[in-house]
Amino acid sequence: MHYLDNAATTPVDPEVLCTVTETLKNYYGNPSSLHRLGMQSEDVIAEARGTIAQSLGCAEKELYFTACGTESNNIAIIGAALARKGWADNVVCTGYEHPSVEMPMRFLENFGFTLKIVKPDKNGVVSLEDILNAIDSKTAVAAVMQVNNEIGTITDVAEAARRIKEKNNRTAVHVDGVQGFMKIPFGVNGTKIDSYSLSGHKIYAPKGIGALYLRSGHNIKPPFTGGGQEKGVRSGTENIGYIAGMAKAVSLAKDDIQKRFDNAKELRDYMKAELSSLNDVVINSPENASPYNFNFSVLGVRSETLLHYLERYDVYVSSGSACSKGLGSHTLTAMGLSRERIDGSVRVSMGKYTTREDIDALLEGVSSGMASLAKNKRR
Ligand code: PLP
Repeated sequence: MHYLDNAATTPVDPEVLCTVTETLKNYYGNPSSLHRLGMQSEDVIAEARGTIAQSLGCAEKELYFTACGTESNNIAIIGAALARKGWADNVVCTGYEHPSVEMPMRFLENFGFTLKIVKPDKNGVVSLEDILNAIDSKTAVAAVMQVNNEIGTITDVAEAARRIKEKNNRTAVHVDGVQGFMKIPFGVNGTKIDSYSLSGHKIYAPKGIGALYLRSGHNIKPPFTGGGQEKGVRSGTENIGYIAGMAKAVSLAKDDIQKRFDNAKELRDYMKAELSSLNDVVINSPENASPYNFNFSVLGVRSETLLHYLERYDVYVSSGSACSKGLGSHTLTAMGLSRERIDGSVRVSMGKYTTREDIDALLEGVSSGMASLAKNKRR
């Protein structure tokens, strides 16, 4: 099997699975309970928080567990905007954000905020100057993603935060770090970033667990309430097994980030060189993109058709992002690319298990698919 859809989700690492099952078995006390079993569960959460906080370069008290990256983005964006409602009237995000950022931004329009969207250029890069131009004295929140999920554009989010704060110190700077966390070396320490989202299932932990960094002193009004867990930022009984599993995934990754990155880069460079030599293939990822998220188009062949053709080779890729199922790529549309390029776009996303054999299988499948599907087209 050649699994090349790691940006959609990753398989659970066997060691992580072991941690999850052991934790679920041994720590079933509710962490809010005052008895010993409850306190033991609380200790498991505290240890996991410490591990992840250290990897993100923040204090333990600045890290909150959530159900997923989507929830983290919603809490950070809606929470920061509501806390600034008194003086602010607009919010800003880039035009290629994941729906879990763009939709809460749109939701804020119901509360009287105007949404300003800063589009990427045709190379898939959002200009920092354009973002700064959108920010004014009444901007409540600005969201800038660290690594674009579809084409892999990397943004220097520390620099973006610094410049945004220079323009308006009261604007909350939110970073969706879901595709960057534990993939590119990074820490929030020393930056002006107010909030940063991450998700477990992109780093070999299960689906349904995430976390949110909130800088100490950063003011948000959590959009939903309940029992007050996670200091009221995310009410709801904690998923102890998955929290421990995500921490295990982080500890497995943390000394391996550079090695995994170099492997992905070598494979991406090889794939890119091979694909570039084919007629009718256009590369959509910009230069200096994350090697984990690579995007290209085969002109004249619909990506869904190629995607299913590749399944014969046991190769699994994505068309656009998994979340945009059937809708056509959000990012490529924002870049203003032609319909043909959007319709033929394929995302190959690598992970720590990806090998040269996987890429060779993909290349063989693409070449054969192009010949065969183009032949069908002529008939
Ligand atoms: N942000 C980005 C950039 C993503 O790629 C994803 C998932 O694909 C998310 C947020 C949402 O994360 P989750 O699936 O944990 O809700």
